[in-house]
Amino acid sequence: MDYKKITVAGSGVLGSQIAYQTAFKGFDVVIYDINEEAIEKSKQRLAKLMKNYRKDFGSSEAEVEAAYGRLSFKTNLAEAVSDADLMIEAIPEVTDIKMAFYKELGNAAPEKTVFATNSSTLLPSQFAEATGRPEKFLALHFANTIRINNTAEIMKHPGTADAVFEDMIEFAEAIGMVPLPLHKEQPGYILNSLLVPFLEAAELLLVKEVADIETVDKTWMIATGAPLGPFAILDVVGINTAHNIVQAKAAATGKAEFVKLANMLKTEYLDKGKLGRETGEGFYSY
Ligand code: NAD
Repeated sequence: MDYKKITVAGSGVLGSQIAYQTAFKGFDVVIYDINEEAIEKSKQRLAKLMKNYRKDFGSSEAEVEAAYGRLSFKTNLAEAVSDADLMIEAIPEVTDIKMAFYKELGNAAPEKTVFATNSSTLLPSQFAEATGRPEKFLALHFANTIRINNTAEIMKHPGTADAVFEDMIEFAEAIGMVPLPLHKEQPGYILNSLLVPFLEAAELLLVKEVADIETVDKTWMIATGAPLGPFAILDVVGINTAHNIVQAKAAATGKAEFVKLANMLKTEYLDKGKLGRETGEGFYSY
């Protein structure tokens, strides 16, 4: 792996974190976003991140400043990728936006540039053709708060070159992540393939009035030694996201239990401002 110059496209919640973590580990990083306003927002996020790195890792002022010094900012895509070895994309989770971005990027980037998408729900094969370089394209999926929750799910699509896949595993390690290779495309990667059905099963036990929240969580924690039960995890994920997932399932299947569950999450939690840990209350109070 000889990636030295990295471009991160999209400097929102995840893009800012990916860019700063990568710079913190010594790489030169160009941050690309669509306009100055978005770049300004990113700079505010970066200022917060620098405080968190000092607090969480005891990093010195000089260290966090040096990492910031390795970042540069661009609003012109061709300039942003003109010398990039690797481009990591963290732009909105909207198919049309990503499709247009990859078409433009494929023309703008030099041949050497490898492209990685941080998409949570869209598969790389959807965009492989649009990139114009399917063999140099794959998914590199981070979790929120990457400096602490440092998983990097690395997923091939059928056309990804093996060497590119292996290089990405090395790169993920080099920026302080734990690389988790997926050899085939899988919606939800590993984590959400496990977590989404697990949380759904717990919610259905509640809505079918089989057992209450505390009993479900207690069962899981005592029996498996896990530190959190499913409802405590749902409070971390946020009830908004949980509701979106259940509502989509209700619409897709029309099943009464999902409709009831979606209504329950809305009236008992969302409408009462109980959105989970972030708001101090969800299934539990914090
Ligand atoms: P966000 O909305 O916080 O940030 C998106 C950024 O992309 C914004 O700064 C926006 O200005 C910029 N943008 C919009 N259009 C663009 C374009 N055409 N070119 C370049 N930049 C553009 O979104 P986010 O939460 O950081 O999510 C970004 C990606 O990361 C999504 O694919 C999402 O699935 C994935 N992801 C998010 C999380 C999470 O917890 N938020 C976790 C893992 C993966």
